[in-house]
Amino acid sequence: MKNVTKRALAIVFLFVVMCNLSFFVSAASYPSTSATYNIYNLVRNSSASGGCSKMIPQGITFAGDYLLISAYCGDDVPHNSVIYVFKESDKSYYGTIKLPGTEHVGGIAYDCDRSGNVWVSNGNSVGCFKYSKLADCKGKVLSVSYNRVANLSYTASTMCYDAVNNYLWIAQFSENDSSKSFARCYAVNDKTTSTPTLPYQFEISVPLKTQGISVRGNRMMISSSYGRNNDSKLYSYTWNQTSKTKTLKSTTILPPLSEGVVMGSTYAYVVYESVAPKYYDTCSYPVKYFASYVISKFGI
Ligand SMILES: [Zn+2]
Repeated sequence: MKNVTKRALAIVFLFVVMCNLSFFVSAASYPSTSATYNIYNLVRNSSASGGCSKMIPQGITFAGDYLLISAYCGDDVPHNSVIYVFKESDKSYYGTIKLPGTEHVGGIAYDCDRSGNVWVSNGNSVGCFKYSKLADCKGKVLSVSYNRVANLSYTASTMCYDAVNNYLWIAQFSENDSSKSFARCYAVNDKTTSTPTLPYQFEISVPLKTQGISVRGNRMMISSSYGRNNDSKLYSYTWNQTSKTKTLKSTTILPPLSEGVVMGSTYAYVVYESVAPKYYDTCSYPVKYFASYVISKFGI
């Protein structure tokens, strides 16, 4: 073998070793999951997704007896967006809500009243439908329309409902403009009517690339990511509702393409859009699941 060839082979060998090494180091640095729930087949199952086999999951929330994950279709001529409904008790698939439009439904929240509403981001607005509709989608795809659509002057990229302080949060994603990276807090009035209102309370700034937000009493988590080959960051804060200040307690590296996050009392659940057909084969560390993590490990 010629020296030049040997050298070339050595370089290739070194490159392969380094790639594997960096992959290994990266994977090893991710926090351990408490549990994982496989949705790989579900987002490809057209009969459970309103005719779509390429759903991209986005937002996540608890809603009474259920856990909800919103998803949109990435096709050029998109199918309607959906909400996958899981039983809260064991996270098993229960049914699907088909939404009225094709919006990038990054946010979903439940206003924590059984006679109240599920809120869904709808571009520069948020729509709502009654919580009671969820039970009706058992084993099928149920189409819903919005009772009310509240217009905003910005994009509802992600949402959450703080069940302790009783406020709805709506945050806007921006890749690189911090003046457009904010979360706004609203009360939800007249929840049990068909025309609830959202009186504005205040605004805080959030990190660039915010994809998910969860607020629960004195805790706040923000999921941020961008790009299929970049690790995500999960920011964990203590939250003071009186002074309206958040204090960063930890920054956790997660696999790429983290989207929604929701906190329960003990566990936080994170959705990754890398599970979607659009990203799975090209993402550096795709996952087939949404995952739960023990919140106390994040210093809050
Ligand atoms: Zn589709």
